[in-house]
Amino acid sequence: MSDITITVNNGALLPALGLGVLQSEGGEATSAVSTALRSGYRLIDTAAAYFKEREVGQGIRDSGVDRADVFLTTKLWMTDYGFDAALRAFDTSIAKLGVDYLDLYLLHWPWPTNFAETVASYRAAERLLTEGRVRAIGVANFKAEHLRALVSETDIVPAVNQIELHPNFQQPDQVALHRELGIVTQAWSPIGGVYGWAGENGATPPLRNETITAIAQARGKTPAQVILRWHLQEGRSAIPKSVKPERIAENIDVFDFDLTADELTAIDKLDTGARGAIDPDIATPELIDLTIDAA
Ligand code: NDP
Repeated sequence: MSDITITVNNGALLPALGLGVLQSEGGEATSAVSTALRSGYRLIDTAAAYFKEREVGQGIRDSGVDRADVFLTTKLWMTDYGFDAALRAFDTSIAKLGVDYLDLYLLHWPWPTNFAETVASYRAAERLLTEGRVRAIGVANFKAEHLRALVSETDIVPAVNQIELHPNFQQPDQVALHRELGIVTQAWSPIGGVYGWAGENGATPPLRNETITAIAQARGKTPAQVILRWHLQEGRSAIPKSVKPERIAENIDVFDFDLTADELTAIDKLDTGARGAIDPDIATPELIDLTIDAA
């Protein structure tokens, strides 16, 4: 069971460990979500840009778990930035998901060269929060300067910033800023899945890192479990993706051991400072060219 919950800045309760569904094929997301919920997961992370909202909604219904017991996140894509467009996109997302509210709505990327539209979209998210259509709002991939600018131009501090964070790329300064602002850090590609879809570019993926495999062997745990435990003990939320039932079960079986301070430090030292994915500074809808379909 996911037995660690993080209280975000407006009091909403975020299960620390969840399931991601990026890059799942065909109907895989439906069975992954229902398997995960039946295995004890209570946080599901999706996005309009994953084109999986219908499958995720079906997976929740198939699981037999009450909607009220699921913490459901989706994200607004950049082509829908702007106040009115964002409100329409939210309606499209919840229609695809088949739900009448969201637990967390995130702006998927900053759009630094059109920051006015980024802010207008966040203003729309604030409206949705005020209307009770979403329980918490936040952002993803915001660097320090994007966060500071957003916070200075809007009323509600994001509850969450979901960022690339795994042993190879740990962003300590960014995480410290989140702590200062009262924002929860949520790790995407928490076990290093980015190297599978963006290319390794000379990096050793964390699951094959010798420090991690040695800790895993000594503990009788898997490398993925060691990394996920590291995230949880350092106070982060993490959303590993798998479509395989045995890995979905493995990734949540992390509540029966503690890493020592030395083991945590050994993993902290693996930070290379190099991202696996693009730098958010260059994010634009043209660079990541996607068209979100209608409901
Ligand atoms: P992850 O770090 O979660 O790794 C997923 C990869 O690892 C998949 O190839 C999966 O394969 C494999 N895997 C899963 N569990 C295990 C295991 N126990 N042992 C070995 N291999 C395993 O990477 P993601 O990039 O998918 O990130 C997770 C989630 O974060 C996404 O699904 C998405 O929800 C979110 N995300 C958000 C982004 C953003 O911009 N906000 C960007 C990227 C991701 P298999 O399925 O075959 O098991």
